[in-house]
Amino acid sequence: MNAIEIQNLTKAFGSFKALKEVNLTVKKGEVHGFIGPNGAGKSTTIRILLGLLQKSSGTISLLGGDPWSDAINLHANLVYVPGDVSLWPDLTGGEIIDFLGRLHGKQDLRKRNELIKKFQLDLQKKSSTYSKGNRQKVALIAALSCDVDLYLFDEPTSGLDPLMESIFQECVAEIKSKGKTVLLSSHILSEVEALCDRVSIIREGKIVETGTLQELRHLTRTTISLSTQDTIPNLAKLAGVYDISYNNHQYRFSVEGSAINHVIKELSSVNIQSFTAEPPSLEDLFIRHYDVKVGK
Ligand code: ADP
Ligand code: MG
Repeated sequence: MNAIEIQNLTKAFGSFKALKEVNLTVKKGEVHGFIGPNGAGKSTTIRILLGLLQKSSGTISLLGGDPWSDAINLHANLVYVPGDVSLWPDLTGGEIIDFLGRLHGKQDLRKRNELIKKFQLDLQKKSSTYSKGNRQKVALIAALSCDVDLYLFDEPTSGLDPLMESIFQECVAEIKSKGKTVLLSSHILSEVEALCDRVSIIREGKIVETGTLQELRHLTRTTISLSTQDTIPNLAKLAGVYDISYNNHQYRFSVEGSAINHVIKELSSVNIQSFTAEPPSLEDLFIRHYDVKVGK
């Protein structure tokens, strides 16, 4: 059974269709990245999964249940962190973490204490004095200290500094090692790249790509840098080669996945002093995907 299975999900707000026939499968035990530009429909999808919004049409199975009609049972086995956490202003961070933990019932106290140390949260302050980053920490500590099957994160690290971001990444890796499932919507593509087994890209309410990073990388280009005293014959004429620059015996260019083999053969006649190949980053992939679609 998949942790999440969404088929042909649509959501209309009045005459505006925020989701159009969305299909999304999150396998049990995977960390699934959910990326897309602002307004693409990530939060709408997640809110429907949480039973906070009702779908217009389509079918959804969440941990084997229906997020709308089985919400109470399902919520015992999942946690959620949004990107803009609001808290009870008069309670301290510590009081809120404990309250949320009791509410959920699956908080592990040892884990709670460990996370408070890791995220260096001052528990004694009223939450009205917290920065956005500190409010995120409260929600993350409360969620990550619960032992559940499914973790839903909707841009959870917005406002966290890079150090805290890397602690979040450690926590997700640990969740994954326990066989738990994570759906992570994120703006931070390096975060998705570091953590996710598979990725779905959503744009204007439609899923435009799903796959492992490896699969998605086939769609884009590898950047090659090499130094040589020779000139590379015909480089500019090779199919699938782009953005060639040459400076002080140093070549740099990008190659389509399907052309790599061919280009390497062509390079075999050249005396190369140094060579590096960088795989496309998720960011390249995302932007390229976006450009291609916009260009059409
Ligand atoms: P994302 O999380 O990917 O940035 P959202 O899911 O929040 O995108 O929004 C998708 C689209 O649906 C946006 O155009 C947004 O303005 C619209 N939308 C979201 N919630 C509502 C709502 N309650 N009423 C009307 N439109 C909404
Ligand atoms: Mg959103």
